[in-house]
Amino acid sequence: MTSILNADLHCHSVVSDGTLTPEELAARAAANGVELWSLTDHDEVGGQHRAAAAAKANGIKYLTGTEISVTFANETVHIVGLGFDPDDAAMKQGLYDTRGGRGRRAQEMSEGLARVGIHGAYEGALKFVGNPELISRTHFARFLVEGGWCKDTNEVFRKYLTEGKPGYVPHRWANLKDAIGWIHDAGGLAVIAHPGRYKFTANEEYALFLEFKAHGGQAIEVVTGSHSPPEYVEYAEKAIEFGFAASRGSDFHSPDESHCDLGQLPWLPGNLKPVWELLESRVR
Ligand code: AMP
Ligand code: MN
Ligand code: MN
Ligand code: MN
Repeated sequence: MTSILNADLHCHSVVSDGTLTPEELAARAAANGVELWSLTDHDEVGGQHRAAAAAKANGIKYLTGTEISVTFANETVHIVGLGFDPDDAAMKQGLYDTRGGRGRRAQEMSEGLARVGIHGAYEGALKFVGNPELISRTHFARFLVEGGWCKDTNEVFRKYLTEGKPGYVPHRWANLKDAIGWIHDAGGLAVIAHPGRYKFTANEEYALFLEFKAHGGQAIEVVTGSHSPPEYVEYAEKAIEFGFAASRGSDFHSPDESHCDLGQLPWLPGNLKPVWELLESRVR
C-alpha cells in the first residue's frame, strides 16, 4: 500500500455524535471511492462489528477504530486507536469508564444554558442522541440550532459550548498513558487526532508529542478535515521531525454539518510513512 490510497480513517456514526448509521457510512464511503475505511466513534467500540460487516458488504477494506477523549495539560486531546481487537475486555472497560461522566456533565451543561435563558437543553439534546452513554456537546449544538438560537453548530460552539461560555463544563477524561495502553494491549496502533486543533503552546505540543512517543504512540493525523491546508504542511514536517507515521481522515459527522465528506481529502504527502503500512496485518 502506498500513500496514494483513498484511506479515510476517522469518522463518526450514531453510536457517538454522527448522524448516519455504520451501514449508511459504509455505503457513503464506498460511493465516494474510499478503499480503506475506519469508523472511529468517540469513547465507544459498539459500532465496530456492524461497520466491519457493512464495509465487507460494500467491497471496501476495514480497520477497527475509536477516538478516545484524553486530558493532557488541562486540554482535551483525542487519541485515535486503529486495528485493535474490538472485543478486548480491558479496552471496553477503559472506554466505558471514560464515557462515565458524560451524563452528569450534560446535566451541568443544561444548568449553565438555563442560566442564560435556554431551558430544557438536556432533554432537548437527548432527542438527538443515538447512544445515551455518549451524550456530547454535538447533541446540545443540534438542539440549539433546531431551536433557532444559532444558525449552525459551529456558531453554537463559539457562543455557548467552549471554555468561558455558559454551556461549557470542564471535564477530566482518560489519561494519555492509559488510553495508549488500552489500544496497544488490544493489538492496535495509537494516533494523535487533529493535532492542529489544540490550543497548545509550542512547548505543550512538544511535550504531548514526546510523551505520546515515550508511551509507544506511532502516528499523527496530518491530512484531516479538522486541519487547514497550511496545517497539512506543518504537521507533515512534524511527523518527519518526530518519526511518526501519518494518517488521513475526514472526521465526517453528518451530511448537514461536515464541510469535508468521506474520502474527499487531498492525498497524504508522498514523503510520509502512511499509517496503513504499519497496519496491513490488521486490515479486514
Ligand atoms: P464532547 O466530546 O462532548 O466534548 O464533544 C466534542 C465534539 O464536539 C467533537 O468531537 C466535535 O464533533 C464537536 N465539536 C467540537 N468543536 C466544534 C466546533 N467548533 N464546531 C462544531 N463541532 C465541534
Ligand atoms: Mn465528534
Ligand atoms: Mn476529535
Ligand atoms: Mn472525530
